[in-house]
Amino acid sequence: MKYDVIIIGAGPGGIFSAYELSKLAPDMKVAVFEAGYALNKRHCPIDGKKIKTCIGCKSCSIMSGFGGAGAFSDGKYNITNDFGGTLYEYIGKKHALELMHYVDEINLAYGGEGTKLYTTAGSSFKKQCIQYDLHLLEASVRHLGTDINYVVLENLYSYLKDKVDFYFDTPVETINIVDGGYEIVCKEGTYSCEKCIISVGRIGSKWMEKVCGELDIPTHSNRVDIGVRVELPAEVFSHITDELYESKIVYRTEKYGDKVRTFCMNPKGAVVNENTNGIITVNGHSYEDPAKQTENTNFALLVAKHFSEPFKDSNGYGESIARLSNMLGGGVIVQRFGDLIRGKRSNKDRIDESFITPTLNATPGDLSLVLPKRILDGIIEMIYALDKVAPGTANDDTLLYGVEVKFYNMEVEVNEKLQSKYDGLYIIGDGSGITHSLSHASASGVYVARNIAEA
Ligand SMILES: Cc1cc2nc3c(=O)[nH]c(=O)nc-3n(C[C@H](O)[C@H](O)[C@H](O)COP(=O)(O)OP(=O)(O)OC[C@H]3O[C@@H](n4cnc5c(N)ncnc54)[C@H](O)[C@@H]3O)c2cc1C
Repeated sequence: MKYDVIIIGAGPGGIFSAYELSKLAPDMKVAVFEAGYALNKRHCPIDGKKIKTCIGCKSCSIMSGFGGAGAFSDGKYNITNDFGGTLYEYIGKKHALELMHYVDEINLAYGGEGTKLYTTAGSSFKKQCIQYDLHLLEASVRHLGTDINYVVLENLYSYLKDKVDFYFDTPVETINIVDGGYEIVCKEGTYSCEKCIISVGRIGSKWMEKVCGELDIPTHSNRVDIGVRVELPAEVFSHITDELYESKIVYRTEKYGDKVRTFCMNPKGAVVNENTNGIITVNGHSYEDPAKQTENTNFALLVAKHFSEPFKDSNGYGESIARLSNMLGGGVIVQRFGDLIRGKRSNKDRIDESFITPTLNATPGDLSLVLPKRILDGIIEMIYALDKVAPGTANDDTLLYGVEVKFYNMEVEVNEKLQSKYDGLYIIGDGSGITHSLSHASASGVYVARNIAEA
């Protein structure tokens, strides 16, 4: 089969490339290859009863399939250059924001209408934070919620399915450079195209590394974020989440001068497992529908670890720490803050006696046996700092789940068109290492599609 454009990966980056091509170049023959399943076939087997923890499916339905890693996410669509990626370094801050707004409009048109847009602009909370050396980052955030996010994806798929050829459950194995374009090799066959957009996300990081090695595309890698997911009664953060929904707060520790930040805040949400290449870490999400909400709020506290020469494998470092928690707890470990401070392992009895009910069935344990001292000290210092703006954060019963790791794909060398050193081979979204969010990944998809349509 010969296509004008082949897109690898049906996450937000791939979907919005396909969407924009269908609008601007409807005559182009476009195909999307996706390792995971169609949206309606994506089911995580964990039901909390028969199957309680991750069983390592061949294709993780949480991370893979139509909608990508974002499909069951909280659908927090952050419109900002302050976090979520460095797309602006390639295309400029104004252009990056314009594209994020454009995607937001499409999300609204495809089912997100009526969802709320929160903003930090003019918030009095910023002043309160700064008094305690806590720094609130600027952003507007559209909260679609896991339920509405799913509806938007369903509608986008209905729109695209007759305009684009979708190949689900079809991982691409290799990309060959041939005369006039590229050859996409899958187990089922070989397909050719003039232009290829690679958008394989975080789950495709190892594959991306392999392809870059084979095609001699330079990459750079030196960062991983490691930490815990905090879960506490929703009331503790309600004055913040009611106004801002999500607040990204950065704190520099007194002890080491390390930066610790809050990440992915889920008011009245649930803590969930995440399986990246067989390693089980923790994440969180929440629903827009009040009937599905919980009594708890969760968010991550992360410390960024940058490495210098000679160590290059920052993801390997994060994986090793996550493996340690998997080894000790058979998956994710949960510990009460009070137990951590007193040097005690949490056990089932103490968790059951707590005033807070965990939303994830994790193994009670001791995070100090897993997390490096420097990272753990930073997290503890941040919890006490947050306690000043949200009293109750440092309560004994506050739950810490570990580990949460944000793996950053190595940054692939691309030019200002997000094109690799090969003409017509584009690398976008989280798989490029340039984006780490729904909004930036989607915007990068629109951006390359426009470049291709204009060429
Ligand atoms: C639980 C969870 C909650 C999240 N919540 C939020 C949130 O609220 N807000 C936010 O901004 N971000 C959130 N994120 C992050 C967000 O989902 C990602 O930043 C975003 O999905 C990246 O989009 P992408 O298209 O680059 O990659 P992905 O969404 O990861 O999609 C890549 C796709 O490529 C496929 N693929 C990989 N390799 C191959 C191959 N060789 N052949 C074919 N297909 C392949 C994968 O199966 C996958 O479906 C969350 C992530 C998770 C896991």
